[in-house]
Amino acid sequence: MLQRKYLFPNVIELNLQAAQSFGVNIYLLDGGSEWALIDVGQEETLNDLIDLIRKLDFPLSKCKLLIATHADADHVQALKQARERLKAKTAAHPEAARALETGDAVQTYAQIAAQNINLPMPPCKIDVKLQEGDELKIGKLKLRVWHTPGHTPGQLSFKMGNLLFSGDNIYKDGCVGAIDAHHGSHLPSFIASLKRIRDDDAEFLLPSHGPVFRKDPAILQQAIDRLTQYQHMADFGTCTVSWPLEEEWKRDILAGKMPVL
Ligand SMILES: [Zn+2]
Repeated sequence: MLQRKYLFPNVIELNLQAAQSFGVNIYLLDGGSEWALIDVGQEETLNDLIDLIRKLDFPLSKCKLLIATHADADHVQALKQARERLKAKTAAHPEAARALETGDAVQTYAQIAAQNINLPMPPCKIDVKLQEGDELKIGKLKLRVWHTPGHTPGQLSFKMGNLLFSGDNIYKDGCVGAIDAHHGSHLPSFIASLKRIRDDDAEFLLPSHGPVFRKDPAILQQAIDRLTQYQHMADFGTCTVSWPLEEEWKRDILAGKMPVL
C-alpha cells in the first residue's frame, strides 16, 4: 500500500499524490466508508489513475460518484470508461450532461479542427444531475453544489467546510478558464460566479488546473475587473456584450459624418 498524502483532511489530489501529471487536477474525496472523484481526466491516463487508487487501498467497489466539474474533454474524456470500470455513478450539471451524453466533440473541446485536435469523446450517461444548492454525501463528507457558469454553462464548484473546489473559474495566477463562444462561455455569468467566490468565506480554492491556493479577494477582484472590460472589447468576438467603437461608428455613418483625421 502506498502512503496516502492528504492535502487537506479527507482530500487527496492525485497529481500530487502520484508525483505525476494527469493533465488536470483530480481530487479524491475520502469519506471513510466510500469515496468519490472530482474529474477523471483523459483515457490515456485512466489506467495509471485506477492503479494509483488501488495502491492507495481504496476499494474500487466503494467509489460512490464520479463527478464532472464541467464537460471539457481534458477533465472528463475518460468518464465513460471510468464509469464502466469502477461501476460508479456519474454526476454533472444538466448543461454539462447534455454535452457529455451526446459526446459533443465541439463543445467539449475534444475537436478543434483548426488546431488538428481530434480526441474521441465517447458519449457517457450521466446518472445524477447536479443542481445549484444540492447536497452531496460521500460517506461522512458533505459537499454543497454551486452552479458557477461562465467558462462553460455547466461549470460546477463544490463547497466543503472551508474549501471550495473551484473548477476552471480562477487559478492561482489570476487567470480564468478559457473564454470561448464554442463552448458556451458567457462573460456576465462568469463575472457573477467570480463575485460569488470572492464574497464567500471559503479559505482555500482547489482549482481544476494548477496549485491549490489561499483565497485572495484581490486576485479575484483583478479577474472581475478584467472580465468586466472584456465585455466591451472586440477581442472576445461573440462573447462580447457590446463594442462601443462599433456603435459610435454606426452613429457616425448614419449621420453622414466623415472621419476626422
Ligand atoms: Zn474547461
